[in-house]
Amino acid sequence: MGSITLRNVSKVFGEAKVIPSIDLDINDGEFVVFVGPSGCGKSTLLRLIAGLEDVSGGQIVIDGQDATEAAPAKRGLAMVFQSYALYPHMSVRSNIAFPLKMANIDKAEIDRKVNDAARVLNLTDYLDRKPRQLSGGQRQRVAIGRAIVRQPKAFLFDEPLSNLDAALRVNMRLEISELHQTLKTTMIYVTHDQVEAMTMADKIVVLNRGRIEQVGSPLDLYRKPANLFVAGFIGSPR
Ligand code: ADP
Ligand code: MG
Repeated sequence: MGSITLRNVSKVFGEAKVIPSIDLDINDGEFVVFVGPSGCGKSTLLRLIAGLEDVSGGQIVIDGQDATEAAPAKRGLAMVFQSYALYPHMSVRSNIAFPLKMANIDKAEIDRKVNDAARVLNLTDYLDRKPRQLSGGQRQRVAIGRAIVRQPKAFLFDEPLSNLDAALRVNMRLEISELHQTLKTTMIYVTHDQVEAMTMADKIVVLNRGRIEQVGSPLDLYRKPANLFVAGFIGSPR
């Protein structure tokens, strides 16, 4: 369902070769974390996968189909934006239902999907509230709910917790990990936070200047960092 393969994917902005060439296999159901310092190309890579940017070269295969030229809405992926991307004047229910309304799905089905998502995310009692009447963590869950109702092949998160305080961040990390265990859907999670990467990932992709330094499980990276950059970044004793 949610396998994603990048073959020789590159991205150039003007003169800047932000991503020279990336090959990567993401398996169906995997929780993959892209980690690396600010400016290394994490968001760009995620946006290429989502189709929000066009590749300069190479191929993107989603679920066995060439999706390199496919419009974002045709890729079957859901990008989870930070919670401030909610519509402030709409209720939680309307915010979650929004992508389904856009897709002209009938009301009974929308209600069923919104109620299901709310149950998974513990938002059932908050459906009639406005975003400003919610905590930061609840708002983030609404943003995730908006992705869940579309039943995507994969969820793409770009530093979704970076505007939450430290305690809440730990909480939301656990919630997103639990959500992954419940849904078993592929998730790609971008962060510059090593702890987040080490605690959440099945597979970590360490990026540096638009290149992959290493791909492996948290334990692989800790025990056998490929080079000093990875060792330094992950904080392992090489
Ligand atoms: P990260 O998410 O890892 O912090 P980005 O993917 O946002 O990194 O950016 C990688 C590099 O690409 C940076 O040097 C950034 O300035 C550059 N970049 C990103 N988007 C654009 C754009 N639309 N136009 C020009 N340069 C860009
Ligand atoms: Mg970024």
